[in-house]
Amino acid sequence: MVPSARKLAPHETRILVCDELAPAALEVFRQRGYEPLVRVGLGEDGLLEHAAGAHAIVVRSATRITRRVLEAAHELRVVGRAGVGVDNVDCDAATERGIVVMNTPTGNTTTTGELAIALLCSLARHVPRADRRVHAGAWSKQGLMGSELTGKQLGVIGLGRIGRVVAQRGRGLCMKVVAHDPYLSSAHAEPPLEGVELVELDELLASSDFVTLHVPLLDSTRNLLSRERLALLKPGARIINTARGGLIDEAALAEALAEGRVAGAALDVLAVEPPGPDHPLLGREDVILTPHLGASSAEAQHNVALGIARQICDFFADGVAHNAVNAPAVAAGTLEKIAPYVLLAERLGSFLGQRMERAVQKLEVTLCGEIARQTRQDEGYVALSILVGLLRNSELGVNYVNAPLLAREKGIRVLEGSEEEAQYHRGLIEVRATSRDGKETHVVAGTVFGRTPKLVRIDDLHLDLEPRGPILITLHRDQPGVLGKIGTLLGEARVNVHRVELGASESGAAAGELASGFFSLDQKAPESVLRAIAALEPVEEVKQVEL
Ligand code: NAD
Repeated sequence: MVPSARKLAPHETRILVCDELAPAALEVFRQRGYEPLVRVGLGEDGLLEHAAGAHAIVVRSATRITRRVLEAAHELRVVGRAGVGVDNVDCDAATERGIVVMNTPTGNTTTTGELAIALLCSLARHVPRADRRVHAGAWSKQGLMGSELTGKQLGVIGLGRIGRVVAQRGRGLCMKVVAHDPYLSSAHAEPPLEGVELVELDELLASSDFVTLHVPLLDSTRNLLSRERLALLKPGARIINTARGGLIDEAALAEALAEGRVAGAALDVLAVEPPGPDHPLLGREDVILTPHLGASSAEAQHNVALGIARQICDFFADGVAHNAVNAPAVAAGTLEKIAPYVLLAERLGSFLGQRMERAVQKLEVTLCGEIARQTRQDEGYVALSILVGLLRNSELGVNYVNAPLLAREKGIRVLEGSEEEAQYHRGLIEVRATSRDGKETHVVAGTVFGRTPKLVRIDDLHLDLEPRGPILITLHRDQPGVLGKIGTLLGEARVNVHRVELGASESGAAAGELASGFFSLDQKAPESVLRAIAALEPVEEVKQVEL
């Protein structure tokens, strides 16, 4: 069963906080009208008991939200992780139940970047080794000759949020900074950083004195610094990794260090954490190891706690799931490109959800032209957007995670097809909705001009209408004066019409036959006006939708 999507008022929303959260975050909840229940250190039994009635659970990294917990939590809608990694949440089990799992990916960006810089300086001047020596009672500089950073080259792999912080700080340290990021142009709206040259990976490895990693661990980045790539490094280079273990072949790194090809490494993350006692990097003088400290600063913990509190409040207030990690993944850069089509798709779904009088049983979605090509790798995303738009009319709290489950429960089937080319348009989305009894069908299609979504077809009528705001739909006999009468009734209620699209069906209607009217309104027409329009003699049907 998917948790009910009924909108909850703050006073009836049960938020369970299971790990220590900054007090300011609890204050955010209270200011927005929520009273969170804080229960830190619950064992699994305690968690099972408290989770049963909770609508939201907030954790850091200590509490494990297992499948068992999720199964017991019949009312649960969202799990919020104050921080980035969600390894302590069974995301698959959450997705199966339509529960959103969200994190706060930006709260510890600066802190993690600063740790990379701390490790850079420590590596250059052997600070941890020197410190250990003095504490052990020795006072000797032997083997501790350092190197200056000024004028040296820092190679940043992954110029995302943290990589940018590191690159900027590197510039501040008077280093030459180069970066490698194959997705930069599409993944980030910002231009590359001033003074930071983008280079190919092999060139970065061959020319940098320090190499720092800031990419996510994905199938495509696992073992990014493989044995072969480590062999490309400039002799005497040093490596810093505050991103994820698994990006470096650790056995090959140990060999490169032992052979003196790599002068040092500073790693905050390892493939297996904590490392086993036989790990080849443990005990080496030229390796600095920290226990995944990247996000461990008071400021970062404050930021992520505030972030998750705000996200959860927004989620319950308007159904928007910021940073949902179990929403369908879309290839880097694709979402940005297809954003206007996603908006269009939601509006098409919403239009049909309101237009259909009977319960929808089947949605047939056809993507044509550029939108079909752009989403080839991300099949289903546009159809999902249509579903979200359709269901939002009847269920508050619908999101990209629970929409497919809600649809399944309602028996709505989604069939998808695509065509290489779109007739008359660069891209087109067409949706046909059919009711359970098969007696009602509506078709709607839209395109994108520039970045603006447009409706270009409603049933048999071809038109050009922005799917935004209230639209009054009429089915009326095509005869002189009818439009004037509708306009007058709207005008008397001070409802402005800013665009009208009229049409007989494609087959063409002679005078007196049925025609449709679509009136884009500046504000919703009151019920009384709809009744008055419906009472006009030539008018057969009136419907108002709001997009
Ligand atoms: P981000 O998504 O903002 O940036 C990642 C960048 O990597 C993107 O610009 C992407 O285009 C780029 N990228 C992807 N594949 C690449 C490849 N093959 N080569 C080069 N670049 C590639 O992420 P972020 O917030 O900057 O986080 C970076 C990493 O830091 C993540 O792995 C994250 O898990 C880790 N992190 C660690 C800690 C810690 O405690 N040590 C804390 C926070 C984040």
